[in-house]
Amino acid sequence: MKTNHCSTLMAITPRPDLVIARGAGSYVWDERGTRYLDFVQGWAVNALGHCAPEVQAALAEQAARLITPSPAYHNRPQLELAAQLVETSGLAQAHFCSTGAEANEAAVKLARKWGRTRRRAAYEVITTNNAFHGRTFAMMAASGKLGWDGLFPPNMPGFRRVAYGDPAAVRAVIGDHTVAIMVEPIQGEGGVIVPARGYLRELRAIADEYGVLLIADEIQTGIGRTGTLFCHQQEQVLPDILTLGKGLGAGVPIAAVLANQIASCFDYGDQGGTYNGNPLVTAVALKVLQIVKEPAFLEHVRSTGAYLRERLRTLEEFGCSARGSGLLWAIVLPDDCAEAVRDECLAAGVLVNAPRPNLIRLMPSLRVQHSEVDELLAVLEPILRQRLLRVA
Ligand SMILES: *Cc1c(COP(=O)(O)O)cnc(C)c1O
Repeated sequence: MKTNHCSTLMAITPRPDLVIARGAGSYVWDERGTRYLDFVQGWAVNALGHCAPEVQAALAEQAARLITPSPAYHNRPQLELAAQLVETSGLAQAHFCSTGAEANEAAVKLARKWGRTRRRAAYEVITTNNAFHGRTFAMMAASGKLGWDGLFPPNMPGFRRVAYGDPAAVRAVIGDHTVAIMVEPIQGEGGVIVPARGYLRELRAIADEYGVLLIADEIQTGIGRTGTLFCHQQEQVLPDILTLGKGLGAGVPIAAVLANQIASCFDYGDQGGTYNGNPLVTAVALKVLQIVKEPAFLEHVRSTGAYLRERLRTLEEFGCSARGSGLLWAIVLPDDCAEAVRDECLAAGVLVNAPRPNLIRLMPSLRVQHSEVDELLAVLEPILRQRLLRVA
């Protein structure tokens, strides 16, 4: 990849030699006017595609009315968003923040407080290998991302990681010191790892049996991404604490932590944040939620997701396989050529993500059309054919 290093930006990731200038729906354009079909969408963030008219309208309307009154006062969009999320999730209370990592921090704070006051000072949270919960110190410790443990020692204590998808591994370490089990219903950053059916239900049963909390990190899987409003609904279980982010704001920075009556144990002074629940972002999230929870919208996610899965099956002849749910998919390549495939796609006008050396991840707009799926395959298929059939 031809990269464009900017001397005034800290070096956190290599970026391709282009500047994205505008977006609409499933497409972005760079400053040279080149158009790209976008199957990254801000990393599964733009649930409604780029610059959705509804998001623009909610932003413009709210920007003209009230942007940030301070979290020390009520504002109407925050009140309505909390009410709607509580009603649709079946949980009792919500707290808003700006990023997913912050929502997960709040979730663990709730669990530790609940443990201190209700479970004889238990504090340990069981998480899973290969998980991704964010980049704060605590969330780096909670995540099982390879290579992270040695980056910024000393690491935050209080997390115990076990194998993903394996309820027995949780049973093996759970004890008096355990306060919660924290898990993604499908591991997103980890490479779209879909556990066996019943995994979340078993974790719910273990949490109930031992009297600990179940925290579902649905920052990537929630808000329609996997074909239902929340992924945990597919297992008919309710977590005690639920975190949301990414798609909730459809491009604007908002995240949420929701908790049931017993887990929602913050007192005044326990939690805060300058931008929490500001009306500019809550007004957008309110609009997003109203759109995404419509049965026809979710049906579109499921049917387009099924179509994408069908089309990805055709890549099996090159030794590829696909896994995912709804509109969150990964293509497993037969060798470690994901970055090269990503770069060839970019050169052909398609944006995809390569989270692992052998993995391409697809996170289109939830409004993606069949024709856009066809357009993706029309680019991807010859690239994989060229690269993989030659090897075979
Ligand atoms: C992206 C992500 C996070 C972190 O969200 P940020 O907004 O980047 O802090 C946490 N958990 C999951 C499952 C995610 O996909």
